[in-house]
Amino acid sequence: MNRSHTLSAVVGLALLATAPFYLNNSYYIHMIGTIMIYAILLFGLDIVVGYTGQVSLGHAGLFGVGSYTAGVLFFKLGAPVWLILIASVGVTAVFGAILALPALRVTGPYLAMVTLAFGTIVQILINEMTFLTEGPLGIKIPKPSIFGMKFTEDGFYWLILGLMAMSALVVDRILRSQLGRAFEALRGSPVASDCMGVSVYRYKVYAFVISAGFAGLAGCLYSYSEQYISPNTYNFELTVLFLLAVIMGGRKSRWGSLLGAAIIVILPKLLDDLALFRSVATTLAVLMALGAAVAISKKMATPRNMAIPVVGTAALAGFSFWLTSITDWRLSIFGLMILFVVYYLQDGIVGFFRNLLVRKTRSVDADAAFDPARDALSQAAAGRNAGEVLVAQGVLMQFGGLKALNMVDLHIKRGSIHGLIGPNGSGKSTMMNVLTGIYVPTAGTIAFDGQSVVGRTSSDIALSGIARTFQNVQLFGEMTALQNVQVGLHHTFDSNFVDVALNSSRYQRENDASVQRGLGLLHFVGLGELAAEEARNLPYGKQRLLEIARALALDPQLLLLDEPAAGLTAPDIKELITIIRKIRDHGITVILIEHHMDVVMSICDEVTVLDFGQKIAEGKPAQVQADEKVIEAYLGAPAA
Ligand code: ADP
Ligand code: MG
Repeated sequence: MNRSHTLSAVVGLALLATAPFYLNNSYYIHMIGTIMIYAILLFGLDIVVGYTGQVSLGHAGLFGVGSYTAGVLFFKLGAPVWLILIASVGVTAVFGAILALPALRVTGPYLAMVTLAFGTIVQILINEMTFLTEGPLGIKIPKPSIFGMKFTEDGFYWLILGLMAMSALVVDRILRSQLGRAFEALRGSPVASDCMGVSVYRYKVYAFVISAGFAGLAGCLYSYSEQYISPNTYNFELTVLFLLAVIMGGRKSRWGSLLGAAIIVILPKLLDDLALFRSVATTLAVLMALGAAVAISKKMATPRNMAIPVVGTAALAGFSFWLTSITDWRLSIFGLMILFVVYYLQDGIVGFFRNLLVRKTRSVDADAAFDPARDALSQAAAGRNAGEVLVAQGVLMQFGGLKALNMVDLHIKRGSIHGLIGPNGSGKSTMMNVLTGIYVPTAGTIAFDGQSVVGRTSSDIALSGIARTFQNVQLFGEMTALQNVQVGLHHTFDSNFVDVALNSSRYQRENDASVQRGLGLLHFVGLGELAAEEARNLPYGKQRLLEIARALALDPQLLLLDEPAAGLTAPDIKELITIIRKIRDHGITVILIEHHMDVVMSICDEVTVLDFGQKIAEGKPAQVQADEKVIEAYLGAPAA
């Protein structure tokens, strides 16, 4: 955490902690308490929505599970508060795992529907299971006591504050660790995550479970805070509000969650009071008009793209005076706000200001202590036995009637650079996908290092030593170059959730090592200066190099490169050739798919040629180049 972050956190906490003294109004204290409870839930929801990029409309349901775990344990068993807190988190985490199951099969709108159904079912169950939950009657639950002392309103407020601060810290640590990088990688590219040994399956479940744990904690605190719970609180409107809060406040930010929570608690109150709504809408319209005038005069925006926000807010102000009753219009106004945020503030309010600041202060903070002489690949491949590292026999890959690979044999010598060439659509990329477990071949055997690959998951194969790049670059766009490589280094971490949450010395050691090693790999491919740049902002050629560095992070025995020179300039290609040679010299076997014949001919030890899914030639580069079938099928007349 950098200094300004720590400072703002300390100031924010101090302001919140002293609120009971300067506000001295139990209505407001209760309201701020509710905001903080929602914030705890939103920290967790942000993991799922902001980081892994999944939609969840099931979080009101999880919130309900947390609340009712607390309610039932108190009402039926009179359990003490510490036990209730732990149980609420635990039980809700289990429900989180259930909610994760559909996320493993579907994404996008389908996932939204399924999670919504989950929330509805939870609400119905709470309603119907009267023997446990008292049904629509609800449960009364007084403020908790510890050591025989009952919490006062203020005391309970401080308990919420303490737990919120702790939650923020833990979530922050998780998200900056290898776990957070795994979550974000899922959003960037699930295929690439799997091929970096980060199991999409496992980390999706993990994200939902952690997220649900925080929803459970929030639900439990909510029960004590309201002192009465009933099923209809945990409804559709609440779940939409939660999602709205994450989007409005700004995803991938704890401040964003807190701001979002404040908005969803205060906004409904605002929309209950017409006079207040009028004055807020008018203020907003005036501020927007002033802001637009400044922006246009400083040439930061054109009149054209400021027109809609200015007219929109003015219309909202006008509309507020035309209204006579606000209740019927609440949902429509919410809807309009969502549209506005989705369209104009795609990174939410916090994200909007962060973008403004970052644009001014972007700097590369690559570690100065790095020693370029250090061998970035030192752990690779040393002393592995000679012979064939990969043997594929009779590989058939059928897509409907199309045989993309038709009985292909492939023998790859350890320590060699093996070219795989052929016209477009001849099955080269399909071969890589089969070797890395993305496709399961229709028939045939593949042995890597003496073990069968067929039927194993991509992440399992990756961890056993096959790394790859992709023909259409698959980077984790919102992560920095260094973080991309660190996802490849995920396998070097033994530390678990608890290590990360407590920032244990084991985690610190592993994290420091991954930073050093990651920077080393970036230097190896010539990207050392760009470590702190987001992958999506890199030029295309550099993105390809970054993919190679990330693949090397897996510490592979075999590296598959799918058209690494595509889209590179001539000097870049020269550098690429040097890099591939260096990789081979470190004992890593390379399979190279490439269209640039000069590249293939200058560095390959052996070349296999595919055409229409069949192997038509194989041998030394010069031999293959002279082969008549190859000239006919692929190289054509101008190849000589
Ligand atoms: P190359 O990489 O040699 O250009 P590919 O391996 O990408 O060729 O494709 C080989 C053939 O297999 C093409 O005809 C392609 O359309 C087909 N193909 C590849 N993947 C799929 C898929 N998932 N479903 C259907 N057809 C596919
Ligand atoms: Mg291809």
